[in-house]
Amino acid sequence: MDMEPSLYSIDSWQYLQEGNENIVFSYIGSSLKYRNFVLRLPKCIPGAPSRENPAEAKASRQKLFYELVVCPLLGKQYLQEKISIPVGSEFLSKLNSEALKVRPATRRHKHIDTNIQQMTLTTNLLRMSGSSGTFSVEIKPKWGFLPTWKHLPPESPKLSNCRFCMHQKLKAIEDGKVPSRFCPLLLFASDPLKKYRAVQQLFETPQNNLRCFLDGIETDPGTASQEVSKEFDSQDEFLLQKMLASVLAQDGVLNRIKALQQDFDLYDVEGIYKMLETMDKSAISEANEQQWKELIQSYLKGLLLSGY
Ligand SMILES: [Zn+2]
Repeated sequence: MDMEPSLYSIDSWQYLQEGNENIVFSYIGSSLKYRNFVLRLPKCIPGAPSRENPAEAKASRQKLFYELVVCPLLGKQYLQEKISIPVGSEFLSKLNSEALKVRPATRRHKHIDTNIQQMTLTTNLLRMSGSSGTFSVEIKPKWGFLPTWKHLPPESPKLSNCRFCMHQKLKAIEDGKVPSRFCPLLLFASDPLKKYRAVQQLFETPQNNLRCFLDGIETDPGTASQEVSKEFDSQDEFLLQKMLASVLAQDGVLNRIKALQQDFDLYDVEGIYKMLETMDKSAISEANEQQWKELIQSYLKGLLLSGY
């Protein structure tokens, strides 16, 4: 277990960003080994009564799922390195106090959860080690196929409209939001032109499906696009979109994700619901570690036998 002392110095950590559940710091300490790592910590409402530690339990379940399910299915080449190390409340309290000085006011009602006993370091994808000019793109590709479950009624809109587009239409009706133009079916399509069209749609209506970062700082996709054209001395205002579509067409990750989505969602939620109705619900429980292992092993063995 790594006990690099600088990992426990608050001077080694710089506030990077946060969401509703987690807060992220980047490592700026003296160890070269960790120069490209970030620290992701769960947050909680201070003073809220907690007899157990739900954040820690959730983090532990997520870690297990990552190691047992995501890694073997997706392949390590697509995943971040994760290192768990023990941590105490004193360090977390100090880091919390320091972070409060720079965190946005709208987020300060939640603090770092100081009850956790393990903290996780992951590779920083927003800034390459020791260099400036790192450009990163985050895409949430969503669901890449239409269900073909034979028991769906033939008039079901699910057979001809993708899940994401239907959700967008619903949100537009319920909240008056402008629907995204992005359709995941195009992004997951094998036709490179369709992929390019999907990337264009993401730039037209990024919502939270597309985010761009320049040296770790979030940049509007339109501005990012201009910056990339400038960097390459190109007059082509869509250079970034073309580069992204080309990378996605050459790499196999979207095909892999689509195959996994199809294989693990054979029955659609409607089919699963019908099955649930026939089962004894008291006998249903969350899968344990051993069951996950066996499920993934048998799935991968099946793929091997079928020559995938
Ligand atoms: Zn769609």
